Amino acid sequence: MTLTIPYEAQLHAGTIAFLSSQPKQLLIGGRWTASVSGKTFTTYEPSTGQPLAEVCEAQAEDVDVAVIAARAAFDQWRKVTPYQRERLLQKLADLIEQHAQEFAEIETLDNGKPLSAGLAIDVPSTVEMFRYYAGWPTKIEGDVKSVSIPNRLNYTLREPLGVVGAIIPWNFPLSMISWKLAPALAAGNCVILKPAEQTPLSAVLFCELTCQAGFPDGVITLLNGRGEITGAALAAHSGVDKIAFTGSTEVGRLIMKAAAGNLKRVSLELGGKSPHIIFDDADVETAASYAAGSIFGNAGQSCNAGSRLFVQRKVYDRVVESVTNHAKKIRVGVGMDAATDMGPLTSLEHYQRVTHYIELGRDGGATVRTGAQRPDGVPESGYFVTPTIFENTSDDMAVVREEIFGPVLIATPFDTVEEVAQRANNTLYGLAAGVWTRDISRAHKLAGLLQSGTVWVNCYSQFDPASPFGGYKQSGFGRDMGHEALDLYMNIKSVWVGL
Ligand code: ADP
Repeated sequence: MTLTIPYEAQLHAGTIAFLSSQPKQLLIGGRWTASVSGKTFTTYEPSTGQPLAEVCEAQAEDVDVAVIAARAAFDQWRKVTPYQRERLLQKLADLIEQHAQEFAEIETLDNGKPLSAGLAIDVPSTVEMFRYYAGWPTKIEGDVKSVSIPNRLNYTLREPLGVVGAIIPWNFPLSMISWKLAPALAAGNCVILKPAEQTPLSAVLFCELTCQAGFPDGVITLLNGRGEITGAALAAHSGVDKIAFTGSTEVGRLIMKAAAGNLKRVSLELGGKSPHIIFDDADVETAASYAAGSIFGNAGQSCNAGSRLFVQRKVYDRVVESVTNHAKKIRVGVGMDAATDMGPLTSLEHYQRVTHYIELGRDGGATVRTGAQRPDGVPESGYFVTPTIFENTSDDMAVVREEIFGPVLIATPFDTVEEVAQRANNTLYGLAAGVWTRDISRAHKLAGLLQSGTVWVNCYSQFDPASPFGGYKQSGFGRDMGHEALDLYMNIKSVWVGL
């Protein structure tokens, strides 16, 4: 099939060359290859809904071949010295940085996000993640234990698990690769990467660069394909030692079940319905601007989106007015357009899901403060929605309880610390929370009370490779980033020596 390249006149020559060669293949044992069945699938450009690229689709038999190749590679990779691993990770970071423009353009075309966001957030954060973990291989250490048995020496070794399956979502396709692969590789594992079928392309360019960087054949495998086929086969495979997953709570549950066969390790970073709490003593203008950014950034397609805004009654009107003004100023449009602040949603299926929730909110009696309609001046067939704010909801409504994963904010007033802590925690999720107050003891008290893996005080959406991120409750378990993530890609061996 010949596909036209959308927005071609605006693209870097490297991006055009990348998109001109199709279908995009799988990387198995260091070789680019079609799937055994010859099957392919199509990825779509969300601002128009038009086909963007054809991609080879891995089936269970490709997973089998890939696991054998990765296991063979692990025997060699584990002998590579820590210093060599560091050099490879650094080289890869440099190459990603050199291809920043192509990566940002590919993310815009495949995912929909504004080019400026890819250049400012997705690509640099990916580079930083690889640089941070490049520093770790030479610092992985065991301990000598103070045992009380006479004439015995006991020490620990930290060893890689073996073959890790990384199953990632479509909201930050490139960054999510770095969250899983950087620590897994630093710890000395081989990785089989299964990107989301909605956004398979940046992973292809990424894997081309891993070959260029000089990673040995089979250390990094790319299996594009569908979740229920490729992802499920990987999660169930007895030759895989761990699945590192980011995605929905529903799929997280399926992965845990599939992983039970060989008791492979699982770490799951799942959904959220994060509370963003603003007290009346806060710097309310700054807080309102963060509140808007936290839900409308990336078109609300962030697991940590501050989707439930709680504002203390005295400043409720002022804060909601300010967040509404921010929302109205957001220019919704095509990601390749420099004037765009918010792009389309990533897929038709997701667009239907988000617009369904908007209807549910409206039909359920919530007040639409702003949004809840199609924006003007955008391509007819694109997956666009406007930033939406609902008020006058009750805590049992679906829009308040369930993750929408779109630019839809629920604003609600509260009176006391105890009340807001109880309501903020009244959710199945526990990924993140924000608190805005100048009262230091109240801030720390709430940081302790909130049941979530991250609490941001007087800020929001702060990420750093050194700081662990992950969930409480049904937002999952295990952590991305920091040494905490690295630990999850290693076994601890206790060695006893009779003296
Ligand atoms: P979202 O709801 O954000 O689309 P999903 O949880 O459906 O997120 O998808 C996240 C990742 O999980 C994707 O790579 C997808 O292909 C994969 N996936 C979906 N279903 C399964 C499954 N049954 N087993 C393994 N992986 C799956």
